[in-house]
Amino acid sequence: MKRILLGIALAWLASIGLVQAQDFSALARVEPARSHVRATDGQTEIVLGISQPVPFRAYLLDGPPRLIVDFREVDFTGQNPADMNEGGALQGLRWGRFRPGWSRLVAELPGPMRLLEAVEETAPDAALVRMLLEPVSPEDFTARVGAPSSALWDLPQPAVTAAPHRRQDGARPLRVVLDPGHGGIDPGAEADAQSEAVLVLTFARDLKEAMTRAGMEVLMTREEDIFVPLETRITVARAVGADLLLSLHADALAEGEATGATVYLLDDAAQDAASQKLAERHDRADLLAGVDLSGHDDAVAGVLMDLARVETHPRSLRLAQVLAGAIKAEGLKMHRHPVQGADFSVLKSPDIPSLLLELGFLSSEADRVRLLDAEWRKRMARAVVKGVESWAQADAAEARLLRK
Ligand SMILES: [Zn+2]
Repeated sequence: MKRILLGIALAWLASIGLVQAQDFSALARVEPARSHVRATDGQTEIVLGISQPVPFRAYLLDGPPRLIVDFREVDFTGQNPADMNEGGALQGLRWGRFRPGWSRLVAELPGPMRLLEAVEETAPDAALVRMLLEPVSPEDFTARVGAPSSALWDLPQPAVTAAPHRRQDGARPLRVVLDPGHGGIDPGAEADAQSEAVLVLTFARDLKEAMTRAGMEVLMTREEDIFVPLETRITVARAVGADLLLSLHADALAEGEATGATVYLLDDAAQDAASQKLAERHDRADLLAGVDLSGHDDAVAGVLMDLARVETHPRSLRLAQVLAGAIKAEGLKMHRHPVQGADFSVLKSPDIPSLLLELGFLSSEADRVRLLDAEWRKRMARAVVKGVESWAQADAAEARLLRK
């Protein structure tokens, strides 16, 4: 059974990794001069000029009311959605790559609306995608929301196992899932022309190499700058039977003192204002990227998972402490509270020790310089490998003891 699940997950991961190197000049481009957002007579019009015709679909989601437009990959390089929404007809507008080969536009609507029109006018070398919306009652809106399901647009979902998997006891290589945060339509924090999504992916590649050299099996939730919903990140870890999920971030915080690395573990009662803000921002990224959270179907056996959670939390805590110790021992800068609890959705696997490592904060110039320094990344990767190795040894010893 496990072998089959692993096969499915690997095929899924491969489908992420197997995007052909694309010639960007051949991609359709958004043309700002032919694009606009306009509110007139209560109606809202969104027009996108695109350099060539592309297949697309448009639909509505709630919480907050949003219009989602998916289309064949379009090159948005150099285009700022805020410029198009200058008049403020929309609460927010964002776009970017969503899945390999596909782009997405998400428009936060001023209230409940319906789509009067969603058409594409095409000429051989140009296209105009035009959407017209008008306000409706909340009840009317509720009746209209939901993503259409179609094999053309949806990737196969990885399978979910029904019982906790056996914890590692040192008999086989440690299986680690690295989760570079954000990606694609969700760049994460941005500062000084750097995005969190790209920086943490670079570090994840370095870390994967270092871990592989140390004999660990490493899988990544994304191998490129692509959007991955939070739930999928957990599902991938479960489906491959990960011994450990390590999510990598470098967020921005307004607080002036946010600098240095921080290790977070799940604490759903966490009160700290800064970590609450981070948790909200991570969940909000899913929302704004147009993930439909309403149809969530939890196939995991509840009682077994509650038991697993009781055992997993102290394992995560030990890992957090050992990891923080290893980073400190390497002489790397840590936050003044190096281990913290936070209510991060990505850490909610009941049976897989999970941590979120903020490598530093993009809001800090010193941290940005460090993240961009290959030598620093090498040292950080070395520290993480050491920490994970010594944790895994002690954890395996405990597993063997408990089994006796
Ligand atoms: Zn982040």
